[in-house]
Amino acid sequence: MTKEQPSLFESTRSPYEEASGESPGKHVHFLPGLKEDEGYGQISRLADLEEMARNCRLCPLRDGCKQAVFGAGSPDADIMLVGEGPGQSEDEMGIPFVGKAGQLLDRILEAAGINRANVYITNVVKCRPPGNRLPNPNEIAVCRGYLEAQIRLLEPKIIICLGALATQTVVDNKAKITLVRGRWFTRQGIMIMPTYHPAALLRNESLKRPVWEDFKLIRQEIIDKGLKK
Ligand code: SF4
Repeated sequence: MTKEQPSLFESTRSPYEEASGESPGKHVHFLPGLKEDEGYGQISRLADLEEMARNCRLCPLRDGCKQAVFGAGSPDADIMLVGEGPGQSEDEMGIPFVGKAGQLLDRILEAAGINRANVYITNVVKCRPPGNRLPNPNEIAVCRGYLEAQIRLLEPKIIICLGALATQTVVDNKAKITLVRGRWFTRQGIMIMPTYHPAALLRNESLKRPVWEDFKLIRQEIIDKGLKK
């Protein structure tokens, strides 16, 4: 039986304490807003979940894209990065963050001393929205069960939310990226850091500095905790 994840913003107690304290043993979804029967709790292998996503037609996005882009990276990763949705290059190659924004992300990771091969990268929705628009709330609500299951199966120590949409999906749907970026949130023992999406940096160079400041905090946490990088 599951219990809905409370908001990180509305509680004075730790969300994990509040969510799990009354009824030990109950499964609590990680993402806020998920219903009990969402999250593919019956799936115990990442490969099976990927197969499911590749064949998924639960929302109209699948009709407009070439393939579902499930995720890429190490299944043993301590660090998980979550973006918005695949773009054109990602749709063609079936790998997240391989276009211009992905190349910039690679440089940011490298500068922070993080090896892309040692992290796991995915998006909130797995199929490319037409014209690279943002996924709408219905599409997110239908698809986020895959992200929930990825987090459950990968058990990352740190989740980096790239951009407002990932932050609102993972942290809180009321979160404003300008206010919450660079702040650590903790839920179920997993640390969450929101920062700007690399695509935003391509449009606005002034965002590079705050993103670098955020990655310095991430790097320090990785070093302090001895995480894989
Ligand atoms: S975006 Fe998600 S829910 Fe929609 S078809 Fe693709 S995998 Fe399924």
